Amino acid sequence: MSEPQTQSFQAEVRQLLDIVIHSLYTDKEIFVRELISNASDSLEKLRLKELTEKGIYQGDLPLEIKIATDEEAGTITITDYGIGMTSDELTDNLGTIARSGSKEFLEALKEKGDANASVIGQFGVGFYSAFMAAEKVEVYTHSWDESAESLKWESDGQSGYTISEAPDEKRGARIVIYLKEDEKDFAKGDILKGIIDKHSRFVSFPLSLNGERVNTVEAIWLKSKNNIKEEDYKEFYQYCAHAVDEPRHTLHFSADAPININALLFTPDENHERLGFGQMKAGVSLYCRKVLIDAEPQGLLPEWMRFVKGVVDSEDLPLNISRESMQDSALVKKLNTLLTKRFIKHIAKDAKASPEKHEEFYERFSRFLKEGIATGFEHHEALAELLRFESSMTDEGKRTSFDDYLTRAKEDQDSIYYLVGIDRKSMEAGPYLEAFQKRGIEVIFLTDNIDDYIMETLREFKGKKLVSADRAEIDLDELPDEEAKLSEEESKELVEWLSKTLGDKVESVDMGKRLVSHPVVALTPQDAPSGQMRAMMEAMGQGAPEPKARLEFNPNHDLVAKLNSLRKEDSEVASQVAGQLADNALMAAGMVKDPSSIIAGMNSLLGSLMK
Ligand code: ADP
Repeated sequence: MSEPQTQSFQAEVRQLLDIVIHSLYTDKEIFVRELISNASDSLEKLRLKELTEKGIYQGDLPLEIKIATDEEAGTITITDYGIGMTSDELTDNLGTIARSGSKEFLEALKEKGDANASVIGQFGVGFYSAFMAAEKVEVYTHSWDESAESLKWESDGQSGYTISEAPDEKRGARIVIYLKEDEKDFAKGDILKGIIDKHSRFVSFPLSLNGERVNTVEAIWLKSKNNIKEEDYKEFYQYCAHAVDEPRHTLHFSADAPININALLFTPDENHERLGFGQMKAGVSLYCRKVLIDAEPQGLLPEWMRFVKGVVDSEDLPLNISRESMQDSALVKKLNTLLTKRFIKHIAKDAKASPEKHEEFYERFSRFLKEGIATGFEHHEALAELLRFESSMTDEGKRTSFDDYLTRAKEDQDSIYYLVGIDRKSMEAGPYLEAFQKRGIEVIFLTDNIDDYIMETLREFKGKKLVSADRAEIDLDELPDEEAKLSEEESKELVEWLSKTLGDKVESVDMGKRLVSHPVVALTPQDAPSGQMRAMMEAMGQGAPEPKARLEFNPNHDLVAKLNSLRKEDSEVASQVAGQLADNALMAAGMVKDPSSIIAGMNSLLGSLMK
């Protein structure tokens, strides 16, 4: 080339530049990311050329990216030793719009009807984004092809560009950005370093700024597991979680189908929300081929997984995907499902391999697992497998899983039974457990105030219904009759008398076979919310209907037998005793709103007894 050649930009480029230059878009710094990406792509392409071509121009040049700033002059120079461009390539690549991303950008603008500046950030507009901050850009280049010439491309981003011969250029491209007067801060070393750190930390080629290496942390998520040491994972976890602890779980996997994905996920040692710190933000960043798309992507993982840290990289993501479109992108939804599934599976596998480790994790993070069950249906069973509870068959302080429960269940047992209470002791002492214990049936003890809700949400586990042990409808096997204190006839008469005496305090009265050491128990009807649920509904300001209980008396209990005799001798005192027994049972079941009403009854009973 002898004479400089000036050419006009393609109409679409002019339109794009016009918007880029005149927009008030505040996130102008993304141009740095775009140019570094281009440099990195170009080096990647050279690496491929090296495999197939001989005689690459200046074959000894290292594959690296160098950035230099001149604060005084207000310039940034980005140099790569990649494939460079020939004259034709300069025209094709930097004079027209070939990229689908930029085309989409223009189309989106047309749809919106105005040159809305905010759209720029949603689409990386590639090379042309340099003109957001630059008044002039020069590209010095020499193609990898030995026979090519050294060239200079320059433009002020207005109407066109000029290509001319340049003195000896090294292979690759050297891009000089002359910053606009009011954008000269970008040429300040520390400002530029911050921008590179934020967006281009993991570029795969060595990247230096004013002679200092910038990208020291490797993108280890793209490496093969075999080449990564435990220590490397730890270091990377600490880097991306801004943490000093060690990760509890490390999940590193990749897949090509149905979506390309490389993921490296960690769980932290401690749950800071539990310690009273505020709600965590999403901790897994989204990358596309090592370039940060979003540090806190919404919707990439379900909300409950906010304690998980790490990186997800998918080549299938367009680099220029916008935050807004990402949230409802089908691709992100697919990623979400896949990642969640893999994560839960990993925790489950780990729990099997090391129950003690899971126990410790569970102690700190069970809240999130339960939140996952409460807020979505997609992974119910898998999450339920991770739950752990104490039960009537575990030692105090030891937890069991639903799966383990099922290994101990009776052959024909079609339900998993649980109780909700303040603590294990009160449930053990309460009237509900003994019927199950007598029959060798395990009952899970729940003490977390969200547990009741979790059970009602889950409804079943592996085909077995989850049933609260205080429900009236539970049909337990008959046990061989012990010597009854009341005959059948007496029982029947007593039930009739009690029904009349207690009136509408309860729904119904019965003699039952559940009880051993308690005289009477109040059972919750099938469709009524449980005591804990009602307390929760009330706390949330929703009036909870007061269900009427079914009372089941124990015909083998001394008190009941005595009550039967008393009603014949002194029916008034007997009524008071019956009322008090009923109140006690209702109170134990959490079905008494106002305990002071019980005190009045109790006092009048005491009065009668001391007559
Ligand atoms: P994209 O990189 O998405 O294709 P750009 O507008 O950023 O879009 O760049 C357009 C084209 O210019 C690139 O596809 C590439 O062919 C060429 N290009 C840009 N920067 C360089 C570079 N540093 N070295 C070689 N070619 C480059």
